[in-house]
Amino acid sequence: MSALKALQKHQPRNNLIEEIQAMLDSSVSLHWVKAHIGIEGNESADKAAKEATTRNNVDLHLGLPIRSLKTNLKRRLLDHWQRTWEDRENSKGRFTYAIYPRVSTSRCTDNSHITQALTNHGRFPSYFRRFNIKESTCRCGEDVSDDALHYIYHCPSVTHLRNRISPSHSLPQIISDTRMAQELCRIIHFVNTHQDDILQLED
Ligand SMILES: [Zn+2]
Repeated sequence: MSALKALQKHQPRNNLIEEIQAMLDSSVSLHWVKAHIGIEGNESADKAAKEATTRNNVDLHLGLPIRSLKTNLKRRLLDHWQRTWEDRENSKGRFTYAIYPRVSTSRCTDNSHITQALTNHGRFPSYFRRFNIKESTCRCGEDVSDDALHYIYHCPSVTHLRNRISPSHSLPQIISDTRMAQELCRIIHFVNTHQDDILQLED
């Protein structure tokens, strides 16, 4: 039925519909018929459709080379992802959004310390408070944020590990520099493994 409606359109947006329209003239009339009740033409069409599913290629020409189609689809997907990422209604991932406002398919890491730094999801007091895991603050008492950035840039309890990193370095800069990235990982690892020394539990 939807195919018949598409064929009625004066300006179809589908090449195939356009081709079929060009083949039709006043000697041809199209009617919808119920399926599977033994109408010979319809049964033949069903059989041909089933046979077509076993073939490796399709005869349908989309009017675009496959490469262009892939590029086009990839661009549309990236645009959609970017719009979702920028959406003001979206409350998730905003820490990471502030660092990377543009989406990218090449930005990928399997390093858990770097992931904690870029998402602010780690064994930090701010994370424990946010997700109601435990009421805690950093023992240093110097900053109320107590998040990943507190440890990476400021907390005196990891000063001994912080040689190159300073607040003038952005997180992307730190991560792209091998030695600063190693330093960041050591800081996060220390925070993960010295919770008793770092966390002040609140009553
Ligand atoms: Zn601290």
